[in-house]
Formats: sequence, C-alpha cells, structure tokens
Amino acid sequence: MDARTQIEDGVFLAEVRDFLARELTPELQEAGRQTTHTYSEFHAARAWQRKLHRRGWVAPVWPVAHGGAGWTARQRLLFEHECARWDAPILFAGGIRTIGPLLIAAGSPAQRERYLPRILAGDDYWCQGFSETQAGSDLAALQLAARRDGDAYVLNGSKIWTTGAHDANRMFALVRTAQKPKRQDGITFLLIDMDTPGITVKPIISLAGDHEVNQVFFDDARIPVTQRVGDEDEGWATAKLLMRFARSSNTTSGLVRRALNNAQRAIAKFAPGDEDIRMRKAQLECEITGLEALEIRLLTGGGEVTEVTSSLLKTLATELHQRVSELGLETVGLAGQPMTHGSGTGELAMRKYLNTRAATIYSGTNETHRNLMGGALLGRL
Ligand SMILES: Cc1cc2nc3c(=O)[nH]c(=O)nc-3n(C[C@H](O)[C@H](O)[C@H](O)COP(=O)(O)OP(=O)(O)OC[C@H]3O[C@@H](n4cnc5c(N)ncnc54)[C@H](O)[C@@H]3O)c2cc1C
Repeated sequence: MDARTQIEDGVFLAEVRDFLARELTPELQEAGRQTTHTYSEFHAARAWQRKLHRRGWVAPVWPVAHGGAGWTARQRLLFEHECARWDAPILFAGGIRTIGPLLIAAGSPAQRERYLPRILAGDDYWCQGFSETQAGSDLAALQLAARRDGDAYVLNGSKIWTTGAHDANRMFALVRTAQKPKRQDGITFLLIDMDTPGITVKPIISLAGDHEVNQVFFDDARIPVTQRVGDEDEGWATAKLLMRFARSSNTTSGLVRRALNNAQRAIAKFAPGDEDIRMRKAQLECEITGLEALEIRLLTGGGEVTEVTSSLLKTLATELHQRVSELGLETVGLAGQPMTHGSGTGELAMRKYLNTRAATIYSGTNETHRNLMGGALLGRL
C-alpha cells in the first residue's frame, strides 16, 4: 500500500470510528453480538439502519444522486470491516444490496419513486422469492404459476427458504409466466407487496430454534402488471442483472469477523489458559485478516466483479465461518448444551454453530460454486 492510500485510509477510518463510538449504543452492540443468522434482531437492525441513513451511509454502492454515500469500493469495505470489528448489527439488507440497485438500473420511474426512498429510510424490507421445493441449485426449474388476467398476474404456488419473509413487507420474486423449450425463458420478475390478499407466510424453525426462513404460499394472489421489472418471460435476464449488483455489494467477511469476536469472548470465559484453543484462534484470526485483505484486493479493482470472484469469496468465507463456530462450540463445551434459546455465551456458541451449518447452502451451495470455479479454470465458461 502506498503512503497516500495509507493516509487516506487513516482519515476515513478516523471518521468512521468517531461515528461508531457516538452512535453504536451498548444495546445495539449486544444485538450485533447475539446475531446467529444473516441479519440481526429486526428492531435493532432497523434502529441501526436509521442512524446510518441520517448520516448518509446506508447505501454505499448506490449512486449519490439516489442517496448513496459517494464512497469508493475500498472505503465501503473498510467501513464494513470496521462495523464487524465493533459488532454493529447486521442490516436486513435485501433492499439496499440488491433490489435497490436493480430498480435504479432497470426499474420504471414510478417504481423508483415509490420504493427507493422507503428502502433507504428503513420503511420497506425486501425478501427474495427465488427458491422453490423443486428449484434451488437448479433455479430454472421454478414453477410458481403467474397467469395473466387483465392488468394483473394471478399467482399460485409457493416459495421456500425465504429469509425474513415474516419481517419483510415486500418481496422480489421469479415466477413462471410461460412454459417454453428453454426453461430460462418464460420466467418473469415481479415486485410483490406482502400484504396482498392470498399470500401466507409459514415459519420454518431452524435446528437452533431460530426463525429466519419461511415458506410463502400464493393462492390466487393478484399482482398488478405494473409491478413487473423487465419484460414478461424475460425475468431470467433481470435476475442475472440483480445478481451482478449483489456480487459487487456483498461482503462475505463481516459475519466471520463477528463470529471470531464471539469465540474470543467464549475463550476469555471458558478457556483462558487453554493453549491449544488459543493457538487455533490465532490461526483463524490470521485467516480472517487474509480474507479481508483478499476481499479488498478482488473487489476494488475497478472492473466488474465476476461470478468466479464472488464464488471464491463465498466458499472461503462460509467454510471459515463454520470453523470459527466449531471452535466457539468446543470452547464452551457442555455450557452450550442447555439449548434454552438463552443469550449466555454457551447457548450462543451452540446456536451459532447450528445455524452456521446453513452457510454453505444459502446463496448457492458451495458445491455449485466449486463447479462454477472449476468450469472457469478449465475454460468452459
Ligand atoms: C438459511 C437459508 C436461507 C435461504 N434464503 C433464501 C432466500 O432468502 N431466498 C431464496 O430464494 N432462497 C433461499 N435459500 C435457498 C437456497 O438458495 C437453496 O437452499 C440452495 O440454492 C440449494 O437449493 P436446494 O435447497 O434446493 O438444494 P439442492 O439444489 O436440491 O441441492 C441438494 C444437494 O445437491 C448438491 N447439488 C445440487 N446440484 C449440484 C450440482 N450441479 N453439482 C454438485 N452438487 C450439486 C447441492 O450442493 C446440495 O448438497 C436459503 C437457504 C437456506 C438454507
């Protein structure tokens, strides 16, 4: 790193640390620490989002004209890494990271006007309705039926594993508007208000007893045609554009750093003199620092972030995350056993361990990401 970058980073980080010291209350930090899945307790995450919004920092990758922070990619990552070090709550960020940038690029003026300010302000929360019982890795197999009826689509079927559908008031979804020889054709991308009659959200409770994911049922739910993004039957292209934005705004290391903070607290309480545990923690800490550096290197090159880059970061981060949660559980030993959904260090280590098993499945399984990287290495992409 040259001297100039070092000075610029120092000035930027001083401003960020000053903000965190003033705005991150002990309650918000505790909510960050207690996070066992992909976003923190809803109300704490919203309170943190509103503070970021007031400071103009809630949507780092959006263009400034739409309410973005005006940061470089490097500054965004430095900010995210610092928030993780301080155990800031993790935002429920589907709106900010994915659908917001998509609407800026491909939404209608009415959609932008209606949704963007509400996403920034934390008034609207978006869940992602892609997966179905028979369509996960093989997403093009999706079958949720959308029949055109005048100025609306009538939806029947269900989506599954929908993170935060019980907290969200909006969903972006892929639905089947036509059966065509090529399965990627005939899919349409819709914006759905969750209070539309005919939509029911049923919880799926995780092994750890947490409620993060859901199955969402559609029974003759009418969605206005004006809620479509892109053309009818061309939703696959819209989804690919959305994934491009998700790739360049995602941060994979933050969850891992937060997990290490928790493991560190567990070590201080349960195994302060255990040399083996301390050595393993030191090793994991080096790997996390390496992951953060790699993230900065790969995501700040200026060019488009490729699928291979994000597959590499996703697999590295999630497998490291699982190893950190394993160390946390080994450290607390039997104190992790009660499983009373308590918030003590022991129970938290157990819940983190159990929920982290899903990390290599969500956002595409690590096996499918490895296929993609392998294909690229062999020149098949
Ligand atoms: C906690 C959690 C949150 C989620 N949140 C959301 C969400 O908000 N919205 C949403 O739409 N979806 C969500 N998902 C769904 C997630 O995207 C899917 O679970 C994932 O894509 C895998 O699909 P599947 O579950 O159908 O498994 P399958 O695709 O049936 O895979 C089963 C097994 O087969 C392997 N496999 C499949 N195909 C291949 C292949 N070609 N090569 C090698 N191995 C293969 C997989 O790696 C896996 O081990 C979430 C899942 C979880 C666990």
